[in-house]
Amino acid sequence: MLSRTPEDVRARAAAAADLTALDAAVADCYACPRLVAWREQVATVRRASFRDQEYWGRPVPGFGVPDAVIGILGLAPAAHGGNRTGRIFTGDRSGDVLFAALHRAGLANQAASVAAGDGLALRHTRIFAAVRCAPPDNKPLPVERDTCAPWLHRELRLIAPTLRVVIALGAFAWAAWWPAMTAVYGRPAPVPRPKFGHGAQVTVTGGPDLLGCFHVSQQNTFTGRLTPTMLDEVLARAKGLAGLA
Ligand code: SF4
Repeated sequence: MLSRTPEDVRARAAAAADLTALDAAVADCYACPRLVAWREQVATVRRASFRDQEYWGRPVPGFGVPDAVIGILGLAPAAHGGNRTGRIFTGDRSGDVLFAALHRAGLANQAASVAAGDGLALRHTRIFAAVRCAPPDNKPLPVERDTCAPWLHRELRLIAPTLRVVIALGAFAWAAWWPAMTAVYGRPAPVPRPKFGHGAQVTVTGGPDLLGCFHVSQQNTFTGRLTPTMLDEVLARAKGLAGLA
């Protein structure tokens, strides 16, 4: 059943009994007209190097294990990455950096993430985005963020029994965490809200720890703002907080 309005999103998210049902419902969402038009335009026009490929062109569900102790919260799928392959952080440079680090940390069975069905599997970890459709210029509008939030909140609720730590990739994900924490765990955001920073950590009683990490975008990794070592350190801390180290 398709979701075409914010009310549909809230109702279908609430009705998803497990992650399989949630992932299927997410993929059938058409609630943000601007993002639907963009994801489909990108999938139709295509980048020259992917012209012979069939793009996914739909919302991108979370990926990983249902009993995750570590959650990785991103911004949104990339136009020619997740929007092409149908799997989050798959088929783009950001994913190359992230999955290589997860593999070094023992949280992924392989370093490469090129396409759905490539054999990649995560351990103890689930990755999801605050907004499930690729936005123009990687900038969702506030109304799109809010419309999409019930998908994130439901996903968090379904993995809440095991989840111990969330890594927010970038300031957008960091900001998206606070309403999620209130919706899922019933905890108000600290006042004033803790500022995003690489390595920032917030502990709230009754909810998972939150760790800040610069986003794995090319803008950060190509300039050296985020190095593999910095990413390794965040993942090591997350493993420690999650009781895996
Ligand atoms: S961004 Fe979220 S709410 Fe909007 S159409 Fe995509 S999946 Fe649906």
